[in-house]
Amino acid sequence: MNGPALLALQLVDSRLDAIEGRRKRLPERAVRDAAKVAHAELATERARLQGLVDAAYAAVEQAETAGAELDTKQRRLEAQLKTVIAPREAEALMHEIDLLKAKHSALDDVELEAMDQQANAEEAMALLDQREPELLATLADAQAALDAAEASLAADAAGLMAERGVASAALSEAETSLYTSLKARHGGMGIAQLERHTCTGCHVDLSQVEYEQVVHTPAGELPECPHCARLLVV
Ligand SMILES: [Zn+2]
Repeated sequence: MNGPALLALQLVDSRLDAIEGRRKRLPERAVRDAAKVAHAELATERARLQGLVDAAYAAVEQAETAGAELDTKQRRLEAQLKTVIAPREAEALMHEIDLLKAKHSALDDVELEAMDQQANAEEAMALLDQREPELLATLADAQAALDAAEASLAADAAGLMAERGVASAALSEAETSLYTSLKARHGGMGIAQLERHTCTGCHVDLSQVEYEQVVHTPAGELPECPHCARLLVV
């Protein structure tokens, strides 16, 4: 087993993993996500207000239509009133006209209330519309910062992938399959180094006896870390 070649590939892969880890935890992503949420909240609130405006508009329309019907009825009764002679009949008609007027007045109140709600909602929407460009600009800036940070990491990764090609080509087929299975078994790092008496894979210090065994592994074989079972390159 070519320890140094296995280690070279491991070091490249560990750097690639570190880049992927940084990519996932980019602070620029959190900033961008927060900006997205802020804008989405504005859009939701705007839609809610638009709903209020539409409902108020419909209520005004409805009140207008109903009011026009009442006006028609009232004019008909007033015309009728001019033709009746019997006082009792006239009284009944006047009473009916008064009822219509009261209904109309109640409708007018409803209409005014709806117009008020519409105006309030439109005012709140106008305030949101004033704020929106700033939120969109913040979002665009945050997205650009995230894109730049990701592009920079992608460039680093592309450089490392070229190095990985070279390191990987230096391995035999058996070494490649060993490397692949160790990497999978040990969460990305199957090949570790012995730094003084410490395994760089699990960071445990080897005892003197363990250390002696490791450094006296026969040439051509790779020792295992007695603690994490990664292959150690001494
Ligand atoms: Zn170890």
